[in-house]
Amino acid sequence: METFITDKVQENAIKELGKVVAVPSYCEDAEENAPFGPGPKKALETVLKVAESIGYTTFIDPEGYYGYAEIGEGKEIFGLVCHMDVVPAGNIDAWNTEPFKMVEKDGKLFGRGTQDDKGPSVASMFAVKAIMDAGHTFNKRIRFIFGTDEETLWRCMAQYNKKEDPIDLGIAPDSEFPLTYAEKGLQQSYLTGPGSDELNLSLVNAFNAVPGKAVYDGPKQDEVMAALVAHKFDAEKVEGGIEVKGNSVHAMNAPQGTNAVVRLGMALADVFPDIEVLKFLKKFGEDANATNLLGDVSDDVSGKLTFNISSLEISPKGSRLQIDMRIPVKIDHDELVQKVADAVKPFNMKYENFDYVAPLYVPTDTELVKTLMSTYQDVTGDTESKPAISGGATFARTMNNCVAFGAMLPTTPDFMHQANENWSKADMRKAMEIIAEAVYRLCV
Ligand SMILES: [Zn+2]
Repeated sequence: METFITDKVQENAIKELGKVVAVPSYCEDAEENAPFGPGPKKALETVLKVAESIGYTTFIDPEGYYGYAEIGEGKEIFGLVCHMDVVPAGNIDAWNTEPFKMVEKDGKLFGRGTQDDKGPSVASMFAVKAIMDAGHTFNKRIRFIFGTDEETLWRCMAQYNKKEDPIDLGIAPDSEFPLTYAEKGLQQSYLTGPGSDELNLSLVNAFNAVPGKAVYDGPKQDEVMAALVAHKFDAEKVEGGIEVKGNSVHAMNAPQGTNAVVRLGMALADVFPDIEVLKFLKKFGEDANATNLLGDVSDDVSGKLTFNISSLEISPKGSRLQIDMRIPVKIDHDELVQKVADAVKPFNMKYENFDYVAPLYVPTDTELVKTLMSTYQDVTGDTESKPAISGGATFARTMNNCVAFGAMLPTTPDFMHQANENWSKADMRKAMEIIAEAVYRLCV
């Protein structure tokens, strides 16, 4: 294998990465031509300036949603799909350095975005440039696409796909090596139904987490407590009510969690047997694969459906549940939605769409996946790690023929979204070597 990444190449990348990390680029209120506020826009402009300074041609969306940097020539486009927004610093006291000033310490680069996703973006840009500097010519256009809204609602990629040419193949270096070739479809929805004069309840939580607790402050508390005890659910009396305890996990791992809202709903169904939405919860039970409701929904690639119920609202006007489904990649979305709608009908409930993100699935026998896997193995010597599937989501699924590839090694500690986010220079170097070799094999 040719050596593309030298100390000098990495040093240059680190220097420029510092400029990008220095821009606090979390989502804020929109300004003119900066739909996610000034930070993400400035980070986008900064990374494009870096790209220009090393020979890429650049384009910025006039409305400020996204930009891209391109190098090489050809009909086809190989995309590297990245993002310049970050999550906020969070608890500032938990940081040992300033989050928006990149600091090198003990061989590690500290700062918000060093792992997610500014570090991998800038490292990849310099890795690709190094191939060109070694005297090679690309047979495709290599396009770095920079989104600015990954941590929130992905509106940047919706705009990109509306306005720009699709890529022909590509990678999103925003996850882990070796690669993720399947990500489940993501459907967030409401189930609405009749209300009740007996009960007024408003337990509202985020879609994407299993609720770890639910507080009941309504009538008949002694009977509700007795019902919880009969179910052997963990609960205790608190001021003004009862707290049902669960175990909160991400919705994609819902079967590993304990859903406090569902537990409370099941106990309430014993005390208020006429309320339809509670009858539904009783039937659903503690089965976050929704087997009681839908039977087995799974495929041989990505496993079982997960079904998280995160909110329960009941008033005289109506009732509403909030659900998050992670749908196996080979399951037909529309058929599944119809199945859910049919399954809730006996409870006089209706299905309502909130948000849908299509799945990612690039089979492992494609040229893209085979080349990326063999590159990873040849560069690292790691032949144990296998192509992965995930219930999570990367920008890879917004593009054709695109998989998540890197840029964290399986041994890299995960600091994404956390205090003291950092990326070791050694892991960065390895990631640059893998990306350079992969682009060389696919595009030279
Ligand atoms: Zn990311």
